[in-house]
Formats: sequence, C-alpha cells, structure tokens
Amino acid sequence: MRQLIITDQVLPGPHGERIPDGAVLVDGDTITEVGPRAEVEHRAGPGARRHDFPGCAVLPGLINCHVHLAFDAGSDPVGTLRASDDETLLPAMAERARDLLRCGVTTARDLGDRGGLAARLRDTINRGEVTGPRLLTSGAPLTIRDGHCWFLGGVVTGESEIRERVWRTAEAGADLIKVMASGGQLTPNSPPMWQSQFGTEDLRVVVEEAGRAGLRVAAHAHGTEAIASAVDAGVTTVEHCTWMGPEGQDRREDVARRMAARGIYACAASSRNWRAMVEKFGPDRAGAIYGRLTWLDSLGVPLITGTDAGLPGSVFDDFVGALELYEYLGFPPGRIIEMATVTSAAALGLGDEVGRLAPGYRADLLVVAGDPLAGLEALRHRRLLLARGRAVEGDQAATPTG
Ligand SMILES: [Zn+2]
Repeated sequence: MRQLIITDQVLPGPHGERIPDGAVLVDGDTITEVGPRAEVEHRAGPGARRHDFPGCAVLPGLINCHVHLAFDAGSDPVGTLRASDDETLLPAMAERARDLLRCGVTTARDLGDRGGLAARLRDTINRGEVTGPRLLTSGAPLTIRDGHCWFLGGVVTGESEIRERVWRTAEAGADLIKVMASGGQLTPNSPPMWQSQFGTEDLRVVVEEAGRAGLRVAAHAHGTEAIASAVDAGVTTVEHCTWMGPEGQDRREDVARRMAARGIYACAASSRNWRAMVEKFGPDRAGAIYGRLTWLDSLGVPLITGTDAGLPGSVFDDFVGALELYEYLGFPPGRIIEMATVTSAAALGLGDEVGRLAPGYRADLLVVAGDPLAGLEALRHRRLLLARGRAVEGDQAATPTG
C-alpha cells in the first residue's frame, strides 16, 4: 500500500532541516519520497492513500538506545525478575515493548536481559506476530563474579572466558555486546559504581572478539577509570558516563576529548526521573550531575538518547519526559530530535535504515500536533505512528481520498 502523509512541516531528522508544507510518500515499509507537498503529491499520482494533518509535523520514529525489557520499572525489578520464570517474563516484556512503541519509539536497544528472551521477542516482532519497535539486543551483559547484574547470566573471569562468552552471545543472535565496565546501582554486595570491574586489556578483548562477530560494544561505565578504559579499548557507546571517582565527580577532559576524536557516543541512560532528582537535590547539585551532558556536548562527544527503562521508576511509556532533560539543559528541540533519531541510529549501526525521513529509509515515522521545534511537548500529541509502514493501533488516520 502507498501512503501519502501531508503535514505543515516535515522534519527529516538532522538539526536545521525543515520542509514547510511538506509530504512523505511511503510504499509498503519503505519511504520513497520526501519533499514539498506539491512535488510529492505529483509524484505520488493517483492511488496512494492520503493522510492530511493540518497543524502537524512529521518526523522520524524515535530511538531509545538503553532499555531493559526484562525489568518491570517497579520498586524491586531484580527481585521480580528473579521470581519470574521465562514464560511469565516474555509476555510482560512484549507488553513493555508495546508501551515503548506507543510513545513514538520505533527502535529500541535492549542492554541486558536473561536467557535470550529479548532476542525471542525481537524475532516475533520481526515476523509480525507481535507489535513492537525494531529491537536490538545485547543478551546478558558481561560482568564479573558477584558483579553488577551477575544474575542475568553473563559472569566471566579471564581472557578465555571473555572470548567464549562473547562468541556464545553472538551465536545466540545478539545484535551487540554489552559489558559492565564498572559497578552499578542495582546489585546488592557488588562493586561500588565508581569502581572498575574490568581493566583496559579485558575490554580490548571484548571489543576484539565482538568485532570478529561483526558486533559493536556498549560499555556500562559510571567510574571515570572505567570510562577511560572503555574509550581506550574502542567501545562504540559509553552508557551512563557519569564520571565518578572514589571521592565524587571526577570529569577528565582528556578522556572526553579522546571520546570525541574517536566518535564514541555517550548515552545518559536517564529516565523522566530527572525532574524528581532536580527537586530532591536542588538545581545546583542536579546541575552538577546532568551538566556532564552539556560538558560532553561542548567537547564534541556525540550524545544519544536512552532511558534505562525497567529500573525503578524508569517507565517505558514516557520517552518524551526523558528527552525533556535536554530541553531543561538548554539544548534546542531540533538538536534533541536529531540526537533521538539521526545520531542514535548511527550509534546503533542503523544509520542507513532508520532515524531519517529520506527515500530508501524504513517507514518509521511519527506525526504530532503542533511544532516540536518550539518545544518537545508537541511530541506527546501523536496523530499517527507508522512502524515499518504500519499504523500503530489506536491511531486515527485521516480520511482516505485518493
Ligand atoms: Zn541499564
């Protein structure tokens, strides 16, 4: 089916690009034309189903680069996960994936589940049996004995186990490899967040072995030392990137500059809970925490968007609430949209398929009422969401006239 989508403005993805009175033509699951309305209408000819959206904008489907579908976002996600068998967990994960999609996320990267469940869900979505975003999954993250998220099943000790684990994860159908380079928040009696779990040489082995399988590496790193090791090892994305030292914040400009030079992305992995943090800590302390993002940006480190959905309070159905952090930090809405589309797609290795409205790209697109360039709030007012060319349930498409 061919679909012609007409809006007051087309936002193709890159910051600064905007087509007033524009249109997008979709054929099946692929975008075939993007441009001024009259031109696209002319090329569409008769027979395309026409959707008119006055007062609206169309932009690429959004990308959430950091979710955990296996966690339920409740007060004890680890306890709930460990008490659930796979047959209970999988349908719950499918429901969370639908929540992601309903708020405009057409691509999501799962960075840690159990037993290959996210890969199973990805495959059922790809077969069209379940509605959900395009999913990339890392499988169980590599970690150390009693380390961060050891219960997901990715414990390794020493080089040969690292190689074997990466190889097995790739064999099981993972889209990338995730490694817990530092401690984290979630696991009782595990190393503190600032402390490294793996050294630079271990991380090099991870990157090398993943590269053999054609996979990228995402490194969870709160600690400054772990960030430096991950950057030196050549990972693709640094998750959290919080610059923690044993005595508090410890930003290292030389490391950030190496990140920028090597094109290594930073993902804040921060949910809509940022508002509660600002209230709890006050603007000064919250500014010190979130100010790292402005600082990274000023040094040229590419930022991508992710929410750590599944952790306590990190819900699956408020991606815009998470993006509004960047608005609070002073990023122009057009740049935030670019981060959540173009830049995130590139970080995931999908830069030629999703994250832009351009001929040949997948028909993942979002129509919203109002002007998202004037404020991200507009992204909450969805009028139509196409995922692989198919309207997501509940959307009222305009009257077909052609
Ligand atoms: Zn995470």
